[in-house]
Amino acid sequence: MMLNLDNPEIRFALEAVRRASQLVQTVQAELVSPAFTKDDRSPVTVADFASQALVAHLLDETFPDDPLVGEEDSRKLRQESSTLEQVTGFVRRFIPEATPEAVCAWIDHGSAAPARRFWTLDPIDGTKGFLRSDQYAVALALVIDGAVQLGVLGCPKLSDAHRPDYDGPGSLVAAARGQGTWTSPLDGEQHWQRLCTSGLDNTSQARLLRSFESGHTNVGQIDEFVQLLGIQAEPVRMDSQAKYAVLAAGHGELLVRLLSPSQPDYREKIWDQAAGSLVIQEAGGSITDLDGRPLDFTTGRTLEHNRGVLASNGRLHATALAAMKRIGA
Ligand code: AMP
Ligand code: MG
Repeated sequence: MMLNLDNPEIRFALEAVRRASQLVQTVQAELVSPAFTKDDRSPVTVADFASQALVAHLLDETFPDDPLVGEEDSRKLRQESSTLEQVTGFVRRFIPEATPEAVCAWIDHGSAAPARRFWTLDPIDGTKGFLRSDQYAVALALVIDGAVQLGVLGCPKLSDAHRPDYDGPGSLVAAARGQGTWTSPLDGEQHWQRLCTSGLDNTSQARLLRSFESGHTNVGQIDEFVQLLGIQAEPVRMDSQAKYAVLAAGHGELLVRLLSPSQPDYREKIWDQAAGSLVIQEAGGSITDLDGRPLDFTTGRTLEHNRGVLASNGRLHATALAAMKRIGA
């Protein structure tokens, strides 16, 4: 069995993520600095905007009736003409007719509300990782009736989701409901390999994946969780949904997003979870919130009914949830 590469949605998503990944790598090679800080104080770069403009334009060409729920909008960009010029210059390498006004309009295609069928995009998940030259991902998912049907991650710094230490061209990771999770090099060679979560069933040997940024999680509770489960290895710090791909490939068993003590009411953004959640499930893993509830993609741009995220290889899920409960996470 394989991904159905004749399916128009799958073909579009693979192509869009591959091209957006190329675009952001070009920006990283030529110019990397935060363009400005958004109102929520998170950084955004030329690459975030260029990536969203490109994917939104490709979606509009391919599925003009499908809404896009993307992370970025053009409001601040319109006031920064030199940044907008830079964004337009990078987008033009892929779409020669791009103009500043068209780029802003394409970015704002991503301001749609979730509908019965919609796409959700994180043009760069892990912008802080991107700025450090660490892990980041382009994440695109198709959601229908609240269920993720297709999820694609472009991970330029993840050389091979099978062998994370191997220095290659980066990884494209794709999951389609009922068709499994697959990876192929990002450079366009279609050598697909199936990903499966690890078979480990004892927690002492488990490898735990967490956000690189301590401000996105609760480091004290991670320590308690590690102690309670007797996990020996040091937690692996990694930005973005690249860690969902690592879990899917069997190079980790547990993945946690705990609520930061400074933002206890934080709700996950759908574009930070949609693609990665299907990548984990179709590889045989489990993903829920910290209370064991399934992620509910019917509540708008954020997961209003969920608190945090716990993902696992499947076998360790019940044990990990019980430990979460005991530490009061
Ligand atoms: P990660 O590198 O796994 O922490 O994921 C990066 C994502 O974390 C970004 O795309 C943000 O949307 C999200 N994020 C930002 N602030 C927080 C926060 N306080 N708690 C949890 N996630 C956050
Ligand atoms: Mg993100």
